[in-house]
This record gives sequence, C-alpha cells and structure tokens, in this order.
Amino acid sequence: MSRITIVGGGLVGSLLAIFLAKRGHTVNVYERRGDPRKVDVYAGRSINLVVSHRGWTALRAAGVDETVKAITVPVYARMMHDREGNLNRVPYSIDNKAIYSVSRGELNRRLLTEAEKFPNVTLHFDHRCMDVDLQNATAHFQREEGDHVVVEADVVFGSDGAFSAVRQKMMMGRFTYSQEYIEHDYKEVAFPANADGTPKMDPQCLHIWPRRWFMMMGLANQDGGFTGTLFMPNTHTENAPGFDTVRTPEQVQAFFKAHFADALPIVPDLMDQYLRNPQSSLVIIRCNPWQVNGKVALIGDAAHAIVPFYGEGMNAGYEDCKVLNDLLNEHGDDNWAEVLARYAAKRKPNGDAIADLSLRNFVEMRDLVADPKFLLRRKIEGHLQAKHPDKWLPLYSQVKFSDIEYKDAWKEGLRHDRIMEEVLAMEGVEEKWEGDEVERRALELVRSI
Ligand SMILES: Cc1cc2nc3c(=O)[nH]c(=O)nc-3n(C[C@H](O)[C@H](O)[C@H](O)COP(=O)(O)OP(=O)(O)OC[C@H]3O[C@@H](n4cnc5c(N)ncnc54)[C@H](O)[C@@H]3O)c2cc1C
Repeated sequence: MSRITIVGGGLVGSLLAIFLAKRGHTVNVYERRGDPRKVDVYAGRSINLVVSHRGWTALRAAGVDETVKAITVPVYARMMHDREGNLNRVPYSIDNKAIYSVSRGELNRRLLTEAEKFPNVTLHFDHRCMDVDLQNATAHFQREEGDHVVVEADVVFGSDGAFSAVRQKMMMGRFTYSQEYIEHDYKEVAFPANADGTPKMDPQCLHIWPRRWFMMMGLANQDGGFTGTLFMPNTHTENAPGFDTVRTPEQVQAFFKAHFADALPIVPDLMDQYLRNPQSSLVIIRCNPWQVNGKVALIGDAAHAIVPFYGEGMNAGYEDCKVLNDLLNEHGDDNWAEVLARYAAKRKPNGDAIADLSLRNFVEMRDLVADPKFLLRRKIEGHLQAKHPDKWLPLYSQVKFSDIEYKDAWKEGLRHDRIMEEVLAMEGVEEKWEGDEVERRALELVRSI
C-alpha cells in the first residue's frame, strides 16, 4: 500500500481521502486553514452548493451518500421571478428528478469527520503547502506556528483549489496553463426564514431573477432560509449597472427596487448585507498535464476551476475521485504511473467541456430563461423526451442527471441546438408544438443531423 499526501482538505480533498483510505493506503491530508469543525473558516456565511447526480454517484461509491443526504434540501425546479414579481416554475426534469442544496461548510465538516474515522487517515490543519518535489513526491509545509514540515510520500494529490500551490510548482516545468476572469463578480446575501422557521419562498425551487446582463439566484438552506447570490459585472456598461455603480446606500436601494423589488420585503437587512459582504470574482482555469511522473496529480478545482453556473464544479471534482477509484480497481494500487496517466487523459477533456458548458449555462440563466423562445424550446424538448426517451435527453439532464461524460454531453448539446433551431423556425410552432407535425420534423432532424 502507498503513502499518500493530499494537499487541501476542502470538498474534494476530504472525499479523496475517504476513497483512498478505504483502499488501505496511508493518507495524510494537509489543510492550510484551521479545522472547520472547531473554527469558523467560512466567517459565519452560509454559502451553499448543489449536489447532483455525478456527485451522488461518487459519494455512494465512497459509502457516504446517506450521511450527506441528511443535510440536503431537494430542489425540483427553477422558479423565475420577473421584474413585476410574477413567478414561473420550470421543473428540472419531466420525471421529477431533483438536485440537492447543501451548506458548503456542513458538507466539508461531515466529510472530514467521515475521513477521520479511518485509522489510516490523519488530518493536519494549519499546514500551508509551500513546495513539492515532483520527482520524489515530497511536500513542504509551513505550519501556523511557523515551523517547516517535510513529508515524504509515494504520491501527492493537489486538491488545493483554484489557486493551487501544487499546480504552481508544476508550472515551472513543461506545462500549459490559462486563467480567465469573467466580467461578472458575485456577492452573497442571506435570506432569512420566517420567525417560526418556515421558508419565505418555495424551498424546493432554485429561485432566479434573470435580468439579462445580471441576475440573482436563491438556494434553500436547511434552516428555512436561502442563500442569495447576485452576479453582476464588476464594471458597468451602457446596458447594465455594475458593482462599481451600485455602491452607496442610495444606489443599492434604487438598484434592488428597480430590479428585484419582490426580494426587498423578504430580506429586511438586504442593504446592510450588500454593503458589508465581500464582492468575489470568478475564474476559469485550464491546465495540462494534470499529473507528473506518476507521482503528483491535480484533482478538483486545482485541475479545472470553472464558473458556477451549472453548479458542477464540486460534482466534477467528485467525479474525478470516482474515476480515479475505478482506475485503481482496474489497474491495481501499486501501478500509479499507469493509473495517473489514464486518469489525466480521461478527465482533462471533461474538465474543458464542463468549463464551456458552465459558461453557456450562464447565458441561459441570466438571459434565456426569461425568453419565450427558450421556454418554448424547453417545452418541446420535454415533450420529445417524454414520448421518445431513447432519442432525446435534454442537455441539462445529460449534465445534471446522468453519468454521460461532459465532453459527450457538450457535443450532443451542440447537435440539439442545430435541431431545435430548425424546429423553432417552423411556421406556427408556438401553437402546434405538441402536435404530430413538430414531433415528426424533430425526429427527422434527429436522424439526419
Ligand atoms: C459562488 C459559487 C457557487 C458554487 N456552486 C456550486 C454548486 O452548486 N455545485 C458545485 O458542484 N460546485 C459549485 N461551486 C464550485 C465549488 O465550490 C468548487 O468546485 C469546489 O469547492 C472545489 O473543491 P476543491 O476541494 O477542489 O477546492 P476548494 O473547495 O477550493 O478547497 C481547496 C482546499 O485547499 C486548501 N488549500 C489551498 N491552498 C492550500 C495550500 N497551499 N496548502 C494547503 N491547503 C491549501 C483550501 O484552504 C481549501 O480548503 C461553486 C463555486 C462558487 C464560487
């Protein structure tokens, strides 16, 4: 069995530790921050995330799906809020499938506790990775107290997030890397529950206020509240406000009144929160290769940081862990060179695909979900899927409710666009979308495109 160093005990590092511990490896996890079960590393903020099918597949394979499920809220539909406060509920699937909202901090704490149950796992907090010897899998850490720790291992995994120190070291060799900040930043705002703990909005929906150039969304927490996230350009344009023009109390008040009026009464301290909470940026990181010498590998955001609009960053990282585990089953636990080379070759194209898919979903969420043509397309797709499930699985379902590789889903999604473009161009499609003619035409196109 091997000695494994995991750098980063976040969402992915903690699950990876469980997978590798179950296989009998000696696992040491080194985390820069303090133990989130003892100190509030999330600074009191209730950031939440969505776990979807791929995440569950991995959590189940690691044997921790039940403990995670207990802290989630199922979400079955998008609820769109227009400027006038009208609501439009659009289910995520035709067969009542859900995605699951979970608190980031709570999930991390659970997985660390599960990892620590294995006698062959040791968690080391307040250890910041400073350097990695890529030839020998030796990692160097600076402890909070100031002393330096050198750790020898057989394999080092960098699960240390978008600004990975492990990747930093890999970049000194033959390494391709790109980092792209999108124009939009985000700010989180907590929506409280009613005084009796009941939610103020339907908790089984992801609430979206799409406003074309910017948007807000709200995801339920287990305490009846919601985490709201406002996505908006950092710098205003002639079309849209930006964080730079929504700064003073007067500007904030006017902005929410104009664009999110129905949210104002349910978040009484919205203005204070907006002015107090930090503005954060969103980065896309692509890199190659994901492993060096069969000794050091990247996993999770360290390998593929993406924008959060498909809610798949963590799910993709969990799928990385599951794929790695499957490869170890196939090629054995003492064949790291083979396993890591295969892992990197299999996952890199999928990391790129989910990065592209996530950008695409941003346009869909902030813009298209309020577009009648897009809503009609959704209805036609649902109809087709219901009648011909073997011929049509909408892109969203491929990404969120299946194990189809992201790269294949992306390719199929582009084909769907071409088919739907033709279908939506049919005369009178708005009236006859449920009829035989539209169905026949769509199936014809499915065969020919
Ligand atoms: C607003 C927003 C919403 C999101 N929503 C979703 C969602 O709904 N669903 C989803 O699947 N994903 C979502 N994501 C993405 C998700 O948060 C990430 O993909 C996920 O956190 C990646 O996990 P990770 O463990 O790879 O990295 P991280 O969670 O960043 O963890 C990295 C860990 O490494 C530690 N670390 C960093 N540097 C060092 C070092 N030098 N030495 C030691 N330790 C170090 C950090 O302290 C941290 O604990 C969202 C992201 C954002 C920004």
